[in-house]
Amino acid sequence: IEKVLKVYDNPEKLIHLIHELAPKDRKVKIMNVCGSHEHTITFSGMRSLMPETIELVPGPGCPVCVCSESDIINAIKLSQRDDTILLTYGDMLRVPTKIGSIRSEGKNYKMISAPHEVLKIAKENPDKNIVFFSIGFETTTAPTAALIEMELPENVTILTSQKLTPEIMEILVKDSEVGVDAFVAPGHVSAIVGANAWKRFPENYGIPTVVAGFEPENLLLAFTVILAQIKDGKPKLENVYKGVVKDEGNKKALELMYKYFEKADVNWRGIGYIPKSGLELKKEYNNINARVKFNLPEIKEEKISGCICDKIVLGKAYPSQCKLFGKVCTPRTPKGPCMVSGEGACNIWYRAGNQ
Ligand code: SF4
Repeated sequence: IEKVLKVYDNPEKLIHLIHELAPKDRKVKIMNVCGSHEHTITFSGMRSLMPETIELVPGPGCPVCVCSESDIINAIKLSQRDDTILLTYGDMLRVPTKIGSIRSEGKNYKMISAPHEVLKIAKENPDKNIVFFSIGFETTTAPTAALIEMELPENVTILTSQKLTPEIMEILVKDSEVGVDAFVAPGHVSAIVGANAWKRFPENYGIPTVVAGFEPENLLLAFTVILAQIKDGKPKLENVYKGVVKDEGNKKALELMYKYFEKADVNWRGIGYIPKSGLELKKEYNNINARVKFNLPEIKEEKISGCICDKIVLGKAYPSQCKLFGKVCTPRTPKGPCMVSGEGACNIWYRAGNQ
């Protein structure tokens, strides 16, 4: 590790070290769980620089890819009501379901880029139900909690589809088909939950886990640290993004999140319900819960024919293994959720020219 840290900002030397440290006789599967990490890895061509035994695999790092089809269909149906306006983030609008997308089938919907916009729209439309479809990982839950803290106008409710990153990673390490050897933990999520949130992976499962930022050098450093730990036989939690990520995370954001939300069994697209893997509004906030106010049903998911997005988000397949990739499924004509957003692995691979 000392040798690694001496060359922490020299990509050429880090790549040299990666080749020196990589095992020659076995594969090492390093998973990232962040669309921005996958973006850096793919667009920098980092995979082509790795030794043959090192596999860099994208995992569940794309919020709209894992949002349940049931929640999206409920959002579409809410937007079709004359008395309602649905608000959500831009990436969500084009995610396909068996009945189409919010953009193709929705009626009254608006794109927002930050939760505070909900307040303005609610005040401008006092006679309408304003439903904020809040989706994503810990990084979007915290701003939604901050919005609630600001006191919502009476016409606002929230349809939550919030997921927890450590919980899906725990499912992955227990799945032998995935076969994860190490994690690069997501920088943005770590800034909220803290580096310590990932301790369970080295301590309970012997999986090296390194928190990293988004610059190529920082990711190369993370891979080098992982390989040094594997060589030493000492899996640990390491944080190479200390300028941004603290051990305990953002305490204020966490306090706010758990003031309004509690852990719940939630539905991941293509994966199904995972116990305590998401956040739902606490019962005392049922008055702002769109699921309760509109008595929203759970709608059975239908697999999109030919789409293997469920396998891609679990690190069981690469985008180029999908028969539809780049042929009928492109960012302009997405057939599955992984092709819609700039954080989806299929979208990233397509834009980077990977075939
Ligand atoms: Fe699904 Fe399209 Fe990706 Fe294939 S290329 S897995 S159809 S999103």
